[in-house]
Amino acid sequence: MMSEKIEKPAPAVKRSGAKAAAKPSRGRPARRRPKIPYSAGEIEEIFRRLCVQRPEPQSELEYTNPFTLLVAVVLSAQATDVGVNKATRKLFAAADHPAAMAALGEDAIREHIKTIGLYRNKAKNVLALSEALLARHGGAVPADRAALEALPGVGRKTANVVLNVAFGEETLAVDTHIFRLGNRLHLAPGKTPDEVEENLLKVIPQPYRRHAHHWLILHGRYVCKARRPECEACVIADLCRAEVKTSDVPAELRPLPPGPPLPRETA
Ligand code: SF4
Repeated sequence: MMSEKIEKPAPAVKRSGAKAAAKPSRGRPARRRPKIPYSAGEIEEIFRRLCVQRPEPQSELEYTNPFTLLVAVVLSAQATDVGVNKATRKLFAAADHPAAMAALGEDAIREHIKTIGLYRNKAKNVLALSEALLARHGGAVPADRAALEALPGVGRKTANVVLNVAFGEETLAVDTHIFRLGNRLHLAPGKTPDEVEENLLKVIPQPYRRHAHHWLILHGRYVCKARRPECEACVIADLCRAEVKTSDVPAELRPLPPGPPLPRETA
């Protein structure tokens, strides 16, 4: 595989306009920019490198259409993608659209997903959201946040994943990995996932917003791990401002597989 030279980041820019930007404008509340220790050029460089690694990153959840994606994401709450995939292979072979899922019924859905945590409640939600899709949307998954969040078992995070992966929107679903990275790297500090999401969307340069969600999840899952970040394997080690980092030398920048680097469960 080709490797790429890592360019020197642009020098830090003065943020003299930050105060002015925080001033309330007529009719709109003041919106503060997060205090982050990176220049615009450094943030651009962070995402450029993640983009070189995986130009077209993919979800690790297996799905065949927007409906199976939605169900897989609902099932993935407090479960690993690997565990969800094991259960959904047979479930989706039996039902890959709302009418078939509704016909399958709660008992059969529960039987298919019983290896996943919270499976009883999730089986109820999968049935209820299938019925709701049939009743309200003609069996189609809506490309609309409010309509998605009105479905049983669907919250902001699930809606963000579906809008991003199925419909190409520039949304960012903050899971445990993205929440950790946003705070650890001081890239988008926040006390809640919503705060981190809002702050990340403020700082991520536009060309990178579409795939930032997957880049950050994969980086957090396989490199910047919760307990022991593997800084020597990190392509942004020279730019990173995390207190826990153990190396300033960036790893070689080269393209990686679009999904997980190894066939193992490490979440
Ligand atoms: S240098 Fe270490 S702490 Fe910083 S992003 Fe890379 S793995 Fe995480």
